[in-house]
Formats: sequence, C-alpha cells, structure tokens
Amino acid sequence: MHRAYKYRIYPTIEQAELINKNIGCSRFIYNHFLALSKADKYLGYNEHAKRLTILKKAYPFLKEVESTSLQQTLRDLDSAYSRFFKKLAGFPKFKDKRNPKQSYRSQMVNSNIQIRENHIKLPKLGFVKFANSRELKGKILNVTISRTNTYKYYISICVDTEIEIMPRATGEIGIDLGLKDYLVTSDSLMVPNPKYYRKYEKQLGKAQRRLSKKKKDSNNYNKEKLKVALLHEKIAHTRRDFLHKQSTAIVAENQTIVVEGLKPGNMIKNKRLSKSIADASWGIFLDMLEYKSLWYDRKYIKINPFFPSSQLCSSCGHQNINMKKLYIRTWVCPICGEFHHRDVNAAKNIKAEGLRVAS
Ligand SMILES: [Zn+2]
Repeated sequence: MHRAYKYRIYPTIEQAELINKNIGCSRFIYNHFLALSKADKYLGYNEHAKRLTILKKAYPFLKEVESTSLQQTLRDLDSAYSRFFKKLAGFPKFKDKRNPKQSYRSQMVNSNIQIRENHIKLPKLGFVKFANSRELKGKILNVTISRTNTYKYYISICVDTEIEIMPRATGEIGIDLGLKDYLVTSDSLMVPNPKYYRKYEKQLGKAQRRLSKKKKDSNNYNKEKLKVALLHEKIAHTRRDFLHKQSTAIVAENQTIVVEGLKPGNMIKNKRLSKSIADASWGIFLDMLEYKSLWYDRKYIKINPFFPSSQLCSSCGHQNINMKKLYIRTWVCPICGEFHHRDVNAAKNIKAEGLRVAS
C-alpha cells in the first residue's frame, strides 16, 4: 500500500535556488510538450521522452536539473491526456507560474533519496535539513518537492508500506457534518467547530480588506498579500490537524462508518468565509475517513446527499417537512412523541440509511 509522509524542509539559499530552477524546468517541459501536442496531436510518453533527450541538447539548462523529475513531468502530461481521453477531466491546461503551489517529483533510483536523522538526501540537492517529525515506515518510491507562495518548502515522500493493523472495532456510526457543530454522530457525540476558525477568520477578513486598499504590485501590496497567504496557510494547517484527529478517532472506534455525500452546490465558493472554510474541509474530511477506512479495513458508506436525513423521525420514520427550516434545532415527533435534537436525529437517519443500502 502506498502512503505519503509530508515534512517541511529547510534548504540553504543555493539549494532553494536549485529547487526553484527545477520547478521552472518541469513547468517548461510540461508546457512545451502540451503546446506541441495542441499544435499537432498527442504523441504519447515514449515519443516525448525521445524528444526530451534532443531538447536537452538545445537547452543546456535542462541538464542542470534532476532528470527523473522531467520524465515524471512527461508522465504527468500523459496521465492528464489519458484522463481527458477517458472523459474524466477537461483538456490539459498549461502550468501557470502564478499557481500558489509549485512542485516537481523525483523518482527513487539507486538510493538517490536517503534519510539520515534530520537530513534528507535529495537528487541534485544533496543533504537538505528537514523537520523529521514522524518516523517513516516503508520503502521510499518517490518524493515531491514543493514550494508554497509563502516561500516555504515541503517534501511529500511516497512509500510502499505494510499498514499497521488496527484491531477490529465494534461500533457502527452515522455522521452529520455541519456549521454549528463540526460533526455530530448517531451516538450523540457533538464536536464543535474549533474556536481558532473564528479567530483566523477575523484576522483574514482584516488582512484582505487592507490588501484591497493597496496599489496592485506595490511593495506594500506584496507584503499584505504574503500576510494573507500566511493566514490561509495557517488555517489549512490547523484544519488538517483537527481533521486528522477527528477522523482517526472515528475510524479507531467504528467498524462501519456512514456519511452523507456532499451536495454539489456546497462546493461553490460562498460569500461567508466561515461557510467556505467549512465547505472546503468537509471534502478533505470525507477523503480522510475514506482512505483511513481502507487502510484499517473498515466499511465506509456514503449515502445520497439528497436523502432527507434531517426531516425523518429516526424512531418512527415520519417525515417532517418543517425541518427544511434550518433554524429549528429540536423537535418532537407528532406521531410517536420522540424528542429530537436536529443533528443527532440526522446522524441516526444517516446511519440507518447506510446500513440499509449496504445490506
Ligand atoms: Zn416519530
């Protein structure tokens, strides 16, 4: 099984320059062969690899960077085309240097990638200092080196590993994701949205307003832009941490996990920041639950997002149309008299529906 470990690295100035150059060359190669394919037709990886050798003679700077990363770029283009041919994605796009995340990938060949305490040996770069925060288990396959728009550098090491066994769990759970509480389970557990969301949200709002008043591309504009990017980064970081803890806890305790798929409209950027932050995190959270379920041999069930989980009485099945009003937090079923907390009731229905469709 493949698994990725992400660490921050601290390259020297020379190493950072080389990384930047490598990122630039990978982008150059990608765009060069995409332009070629667009002008004529897509020739495939093997033909492109041959032409890359010729191209290196014409552009000596391509020889200064890591060679497996350029081959990887051709493979990336190849998979972009095959996704397009299979109608799984749109037509491949040119890589833009203004994209906030820039990266390239190196393949492991003849121990060109090695870890020694808090240094990692990377092709062409030599030993780079890194924050060795958790032990890596497994055989290294490749490493992706990336730079954020705040000029921080990271590596994501992909390894082939035997997953440690997590004992079978007995629980079965339904999960309702929301804004008021981040998640509510069919066991009545309510996990509130972390408080720092609000804190960073305020800071981010202020920084964005300051940015909008600055003259574009002035020094002050760029400084403010960096601040905004740093805040986004901080939010993303703390969010991932929170989501990892929550998803691991759920997977550890439950053998069957039922969630509601996300409504497509949810993913549309919302004017309210807190809403858009939550929207983005729901997708990540469901992904985590899904791959951790796979790792630890759990049953992960995603039900139809249009299932009326909030409207049904989880005791007798009566449908209460009134519950479309989001502000109603509790209700009493007019048929069976059961008292319901809106989100707990929804989570119970999600669980029951998941068990029904899976059986
Ligand atoms: Zn009822």
